[in-house]
Amino acid sequence: MPLTVNGKQKRATRSLITALSGLLPIALGVVILHWQAERSLQENTALTAQEAVRQFDLMLDNTALAAQALLPLAGQPCDNATQLALREQVTRRPFVRATTLSWQRNIYCTSLFGGEQASDVNPSDYVEGTLWLMKSNPVTPDTALLVYRLVDADKAAFASIDGYQLTNALRLISRYTQLILQVGPHWLGADGNVRNLPMPTFAVAHHQLASARYPYSVDAGMPEGEVWRYMRDRYPALFSLVVFFGVLAGVFAHWLQKRSSAPTHELQRALEANEFIAYFQPVVRGDTRQWAGCEVLMRWQHPKEGLVSPDLFIPLAEHCGLIVPMTRALLRQTAARLAPYAGCFDPGFHIGVNITAQHCHDLALVDDCREFLAAFAPGQVTLVLELTERELIEPTDITRQLFVALHQLGVMIAIDDFGTGHSSLGYLRNFNVDYLKIDQSFVAMIGADALSSHILDSIIELSGKLDLGVVAEGVETVEQCDYLAAQGVDFLQGYLFGKPLPIDEFIKCLVSH
Ligand code: C2E
Ligand code: CA
Ligand code: CA
Repeated sequence: MPLTVNGKQKRATRSLITALSGLLPIALGVVILHWQAERSLQENTALTAQEAVRQFDLMLDNTALAAQALLPLAGQPCDNATQLALREQVTRRPFVRATTLSWQRNIYCTSLFGGEQASDVNPSDYVEGTLWLMKSNPVTPDTALLVYRLVDADKAAFASIDGYQLTNALRLISRYTQLILQVGPHWLGADGNVRNLPMPTFAVAHHQLASARYPYSVDAGMPEGEVWRYMRDRYPALFSLVVFFGVLAGVFAHWLQKRSSAPTHELQRALEANEFIAYFQPVVRGDTRQWAGCEVLMRWQHPKEGLVSPDLFIPLAEHCGLIVPMTRALLRQTAARLAPYAGCFDPGFHIGVNITAQHCHDLALVDDCREFLAAFAPGQVTLVLELTERELIEPTDITRQLFVALHQLGVMIAIDDFGTGHSSLGYLRNFNVDYLKIDQSFVAMIGADALSSHILDSIIELSGKLDLGVVAEGVETVEQCDYLAAQGVDFLQGYLFGKPLPIDEFIKCLVSH
């Protein structure tokens, strides 16, 4: 059934909206927390890099001081006094592991071996002629070494820092940030090994900082996934809050949708449960007062509220588009309930059914009427569709086609509540209208209000000129009845002749008439 499919689709859309409303704040919250964590980590690595440069500058300041003190001795014999001066710097200067002198690129005197182990200097090993990060040297083959070189023409003095000190600094400055010391093409990691470029890349918060005083730089950063780990460790309360708001938003969206769709749902449910039932109000002839037909009026037999008046639910049914299936169900119900008693009817018994403009948007109404008439013998009943004047139908190709097809079926058209809307003569002709139903407000004013009576008289006169039948509704008094009959009104409807009744009572009254 198309209605059920529609319902399923609506349910799926509602669930989707609920899920999105819940997930959106969570996603937004996580994005904000992620951004916040990333910023914090960026700041952390920047500070760590600054701290590392400060430390390495401090170490190199000591090597620089040692080299400055020794440079004047370069070129002098490597005698006891020179060796003592070299060792004195090693002893007195923090971080300095060894000192050396060279003359004309030849290392001829060291703090460790005196003049015993001479070797050549290759200036290109030193970045900007100053710093060399060595993997190891013969004395400590497993330990890195940072050598500082101070040159003055043929003289040069060297002071080195042990790799252990450097590695220690790289490890201890920060627990979370990974640090790398880079000197020219070589770099030293926290594992103590010196390697050649390229360096490993940091996925998170990479920060590079070069020393302003010595030719080296420090890279700080974090491995992949560190932002999430940071968020998990630092923001557990905020995380819970974000999830809480997400769930709250989802529940709220669900509640809002349920609230807004509740009446429509209720109508849909009532339609499926056949709670809309037909009541019948007699329509009598103006001259003989014989029962000539009836108007079918919808009631809602609500399981809790009891019998609900159409004024309370028809506008909603029209608004949500359920009025068409509801009218279709009413037509079927009416045909099924009235057909067994069709023998009691005068030939051509009028059955008036209220139709809304929505029902005239396609040709389905023709099939609904054909199905209705098929329940009766030919000519036994006349189906009259009542269209309210307040909600007129646009003349389009489809509606013209529709009304031609309805007339071919023998279905008649009445303009309901006539006098309250704006239908023109052109309109009445366009749709081949058969009856005008005078609104009960004009009938109620008979004998009381001169203007209303005048309008009433004009409508009756107009219908005579246009050769249209007239029905007066809301007839409650004998005075009204007599007046209308005297004016030649064809049909009368109102409490004076009978209130809307359920099928059994209606048939009982009909038979007694
Ligand atoms: P309506 O089509 O103008 O129907 C006449 C209304 O006047 C009915 O009210 C009827 O009970 C009431 N009525 C009849 N005689 C008298 C009388 O002597 N005095 C007074 N005071 N009232 C009288 P009801 O049944 O409450 O229906 C109200 C409106 O709801 C209808 O006005 C019609 O516009 C709408 N309606 C009812 N059933 C359907 C339906 O199946 N489909 C659609 N689209 N609308 C319906
Ligand atoms: Ca009506
Ligand atoms: Ca009416």
